[in-house]
Amino acid sequence: MPHAASQKLPPNAIIGILGGGQLGRMLAMAAAELGFRVHVFAPDADDCPAGEVSAFRTQSAYDDEAALRRFANAVDVVTYEFENVPARTAEILASIRQVRPGARALAVAQDRLPEKDFIASLGIETAPYAAVDDDESARAAFRKLGPRAVLKTRQLGYDGKGQAKVSSEAETVEAFARFMSPSILEGFIDFEREVSVIAARSADGGIEAYDVVENEHRNHILHRTIAPARVASTVNENAREIAARILANLDYVGVIGVELFLTRNGRLLVNEIAPRVHNSGHWTLDACATSQFEQHIRAVAGWPLRSAARHSNAEMVNLIGDDAKDWEVLAAEPNACIHFYGKRDIKPGRKMGHVTRLFAKE
Ligand code: AMP
Repeated sequence: MPHAASQKLPPNAIIGILGGGQLGRMLAMAAAELGFRVHVFAPDADDCPAGEVSAFRTQSAYDDEAALRRFANAVDVVTYEFENVPARTAEILASIRQVRPGARALAVAQDRLPEKDFIASLGIETAPYAAVDDDESARAAFRKLGPRAVLKTRQLGYDGKGQAKVSSEAETVEAFARFMSPSILEGFIDFEREVSVIAARSADGGIEAYDVVENEHRNHILHRTIAPARVASTVNENAREIAARILANLDYVGVIGVELFLTRNGRLLVNEIAPRVHNSGHWTLDACATSQFEQHIRAVAGWPLRSAARHSNAEMVNLIGDDAKDWEVLAAEPNACIHFYGKRDIKPGRKMGHVTRLFAKE
């Protein structure tokens, strides 16, 4: 018997997760610890890191309406591990079961223009931006935001894809012609650091925010997260407050990742939001009272949150591609908390696992 949406789901209830990657896997493991069973819906034929640790699995395409309906009817609540869930997919699932986080969070996070408009409407700073829909608006946007700017496709960009740094009107028009897709131009931010904050909101409105962390990227992919970020305590408080305001205004249920730029004069600008657990929150598995994965499962199950307090300082390093071959060295390191995702084929740029090292709390 499915449970009513407003109820707290009891242990043994079934959590449906869209997406079969490592985020789904770590969500499924957290769910299992609380006694839930997990049903993963993912199209992947081969590697399915989440499916390997879940009770049930549907292997179907995200536009297979019959499979989506069967899946929704077989679970008690639906969540997802990636933000590009097609609107139609979310709509079908939501007509049968509660989808958490909800449609508004997905709509805002899937398109950089409404995302920026939403953040700005809360009085939170972003990089200056303008919509680019044709050559004319590309030129006008550059005149307004140059001499250095970044053109980004509004949808489906990730890990630096669908992005180009531009430094003239001609370059902006050229990049837009290459993208062939509605875009936005952002003024270039000469930031001091990139930071992020992971926070959760429960169905009854409770909010827990983790300490702000700093992120280093290599080849546009997250390489290292340092927790906490080496910033003034006011910056930490401001970042957590920004995340809390975003959560409350989206009437959000679940974990969110908020990526920000810290400017050289201490201002925080929101770059983007991810309506899901986030790579820069993996350190919470080993360094906090409650991991981001447990918080997310608690929230989607209608449970209250637990403390997001950090008991250690931490460094999280992604194991990408051939880094995974160092497993024997890592296994011999007494201070390394190792997490492999069970992916069988190593490919360049593929996230194979991560390692977290703990240090005394400062
Ligand atoms: P995004 O896909 O929006 O997260 O951007 C990927 C990376 O590009 C960010 O992590 C930054 O390092 C860089 N970046 C994005 N937007 C800007 C900007 N407006 N100014 C400077 N760097 C940016």
